[in-house]
Amino acid sequence: MADLTHTKQGVQAKCFPLGVGLVAEYIKQELGNILNVEIFKYPSDLEEKCIQYKPEILALSSYAWNHELANNFAKAYKSYNPEAIIIFGGPNFHHVDDERKKFLLRYDVIDFFIFGEGEIAVVNLLHELILNNYDVNKVKNSHKYINNCSYISNNIIYSGNNIRIKKIKEMPSPYLSGTFDKFFKNDLIPLYETTRGCPFSCTFCSDGASIKNKIYRHTQEVINETLEYIANKKEYIDSLILADLNFGMYNEDISTCEKIAETKQKYGYPVFFSASAGKSKFENILKSVKILDGSWFVGASVQSTDIDVLKNIKRKNLPYDKMIELANSTKDKGSVSYTEIILALPDDSKIKHFKSLKTSIDAGLNSIKMFQLMLLTGTEMSGQESIDKYGMSVKFRVMPGAAGEYTFFEKKYCIAEFEQIVVSNNTLSYEDYIECRLMDLIVEIFINNATFYELFIVLDKYNISKFDTLKYIKDNDNLYTKKVKDIFNSFKKDTQQDLFDTYDEILSFIQMKDIIEKHITGELGNNEILDHKALSFIEYEEFIDLLYRAIVCMLKEHNGYNIDIDKVLIQLKDFIVTKNSSLHNYDLIEQRVYNYDFSNIRTKSFDDIVNSKNEGMEYEFYHTNEQKAIIKNIYSSYAGNTIAGLGRLIQKSNMNIMYRNFKIKDT
Ligand code: SF4
Repeated sequence: MADLTHTKQGVQAKCFPLGVGLVAEYIKQELGNILNVEIFKYPSDLEEKCIQYKPEILALSSYAWNHELANNFAKAYKSYNPEAIIIFGGPNFHHVDDERKKFLLRYDVIDFFIFGEGEIAVVNLLHELILNNYDVNKVKNSHKYINNCSYISNNIIYSGNNIRIKKIKEMPSPYLSGTFDKFFKNDLIPLYETTRGCPFSCTFCSDGASIKNKIYRHTQEVINETLEYIANKKEYIDSLILADLNFGMYNEDISTCEKIAETKQKYGYPVFFSASAGKSKFENILKSVKILDGSWFVGASVQSTDIDVLKNIKRKNLPYDKMIELANSTKDKGSVSYTEIILALPDDSKIKHFKSLKTSIDAGLNSIKMFQLMLLTGTEMSGQESIDKYGMSVKFRVMPGAAGEYTFFEKKYCIAEFEQIVVSNNTLSYEDYIECRLMDLIVEIFINNATFYELFIVLDKYNISKFDTLKYIKDNDNLYTKKVKDIFNSFKKDTQQDLFDTYDEILSFIQMKDIIEKHITGELGNNEILDHKALSFIEYEEFIDLLYRAIVCMLKEHNGYNIDIDKVLIQLKDFIVTKNSSLHNYDLIEQRVYNYDFSNIRTKSFDDIVNSKNEGMEYEFYHTNEQKAIIKNIYSSYAGNTIAGLGRLIQKSNMNIMYRNFKIKDT
């Protein structure tokens, strides 16, 4: 069994293979005396084992980010061992039989597709196969409806009911059994879930289906035992991800947070904790944030702040005042509070998108994750009815970081994953879509990772909106230097290139000479926002100058500019550059003299800084040994010396804890 990841542009999905691990563990419990099961993550390891043992059954996870890889591997194995039975499973599957049939006819190497929760379904299917002596045709020709399983026989699709597992607390754990031990040796991030299900119904999400509305959870005892096990076993990794869909919202989550805080104290793990935060019971979320004391990348995802858009996608958000409270709760902990905004949702427009950005930024959230609308297989939004209703223009493109040339069983395959993105709709023209994307990049550069955070403090004094300042940057290209202009133009070009109308077109494209090679070298197919954020980080001084110039213009417009303020801003700018730029140069110690007290700057107002004026204080900037170790580890794990790697590193890490420390010397 495997949950494969692309590996040719670095490891693309860096998590433990949780889904397949849970299923494998249940198979072992139920059929361990009949079947041998082993789990894999990397294609090369799986191939080696297949050659060594020629397994009768190959079961592979199917997600948006690995389906084509799994499909090609399965086809290659089927050629090598034509008797093999191929089972796929995961969320990357349709809800209606017509669509399921088209999918299984296109990916015809798949004998059975398991949808919904897999543990019991796979064991039931294996029982059928065992009863029929592993004769796939016999099983298919029985035309039996197997719960959570689809297959085609004589051109007719047979799908059983989608049944939820109510007693997940009785499901065995691949962590506690030791099955996952081998993955601690790689630099994969432990992924775990304490609950299943989501009470919300967002139409763009595969977890929004009504069947998933009820919540089931593991016992606190097992959760605590597992967290302790992971913390004790981890070798190279600082992070922990919970796959829970609304973490922090339930009363029981408080105990989970207490356990995580305890392991952090005992084992120094996790340094970074990530989980999607709940959208109600705000007091619990706030309590969780406090207990986790700066470790949690906590998010109040809004997707849009517009009431009509939210109605169309059947979504509810945390109220605005709660967002502000959440943002404030993380501010002085060096932690990250984020929101997610999706561009081009039904009824979205340039004005509405900008309003969503402005609301979130001015609420003080310090990271805004901006996504294009992806139509995910099996979601309500991806149905033809919804595409027609909202006039969505849908394009295929190669998923960033998920392309490569692989050799399986001595044959070469050019493989890439594809995503379907919406680039316009009834209310958002293509031109406006490009404008919105550029605005997104500017927000990514100047807001996320608190890269230039301290320079914004002056805006509070004059009640100037941060978003309006960023929009000023977007609308005034006379402020750009050549390097800045080149980076913005390159972004606009990348946003529009290599978009295809059909699956067959994009499939032919990636088979063309050198195309996969260009994806591997980063010439094509990268995440344009992250790449250009990385480029801006390399040109740190150019971009902080751009922000400084925009702030000066905004201050002049609001009658807030004078020469004394300018003097503070210039020293503050230098302070930020020395503290935050060239992180990889972590042995560098720098000395500076400033006439203002910048210590504890995040808790100060601009007036506090102005009033701290003095004859000159000597600052020394340095990285601690602990920071050096974290930076070294993260740079090597994300290949931070490449543009794409640096982009991923900036996106995935809490940069706040990597910026230089400083001390003020006695004078
Ligand atoms: S709240 Fe999150 S997990 Fe639940 S349906 Fe909406 S997007 Fe999906």
